[in-house]
Amino acid sequence: MEFKHSHALGQNFLTDKNLLSAIVADAGVLPSDTVVEVGAGMGALTRPLAQTGARVIAFEIDTRLEEYLRPLEAEFPNLTVIFGDFMKSSPEVIPGKFKAVANLPYYITTPVLFRFLEDERCESVTVMVQKEVAERIVAPPGGKDYGVLSVSCQLSGKPRITRIVGRQMFSPPPNVDSAVAHIEVLNAVRDEKVRAVVKSAFAMRRKTLSNCLASSGYDKAKISSALMALGLDPSVRGERLSPNQFIKLAELL
Ligand code: SAM
Repeated sequence: MEFKHSHALGQNFLTDKNLLSAIVADAGVLPSDTVVEVGAGMGALTRPLAQTGARVIAFEIDTRLEEYLRPLEAEFPNLTVIFGDFMKSSPEVIPGKFKAVANLPYYITTPVLFRFLEDERCESVTVMVQKEVAERIVAPPGGKDYGVLSVSCQLSGKPRITRIVGRQMFSPPPNVDSAVAHIEVLNAVRDEKVRAVVKSAFAMRRKTLSNCLASSGYDKAKISSALMALGLDPSVRGERLSPNQFIKLAELL
């Protein structure tokens, strides 16, 4: 029987072998790596990942896909497929450092990205996401696309879009185009203080940074002196600050 794709689970599958190998190349997977894939689907990306010789741990929520993924697991001793919701999985099923590589289901892109960025064992993230999300990931300060996701990814290193992928490359085709984003993960994003400052800075888009921080409970006098020390106008908005300025602001507060 033909497989009935679930829209709710974001089941837009890839088939183009050149594109799939290009994604694996974008991720820079080495045989000595451990790779975590979220959403293995029918194994289109899982196969070239396993072919690198790396240890691959692939998550898939839909048990109807066992029919495709169990044989793949039998073919590659370096592949483990875990059936279940990645967001509910225990971190211990990943044994140590890893690279995340995935064609992410759209409905859950941001929480999965944050889970990777905040996991201190994650070395890099290479993910297919909606083009508009990839644009937010790399957005420079000041524009409408710049927000918590941009700062968090940019605190993590220098994210880049490695390729734009048209909707026609997916089966079934979604309503939007996609892009592959690659992020080398560094440590700043894992600093709780920095994360808290970034989240409150963008909590209320039309308020000044100072008001946002005060509403989150930061001391008003400290906020003013920190802004002054950074040479920032007291009425500056969060979207004007670079990731580095957020790190300094968190130190001063
Ligand atoms: N990797 C395959 C490909 O590129 O053809 C499939 C990608 S498809 C965009 C996303 C996959 O994620 C679907 O197979 C879907 O069932 C699975 N998925 C959705 N939510 C999930 C979750 N919470 N945990 C694990 N897998 C999930």
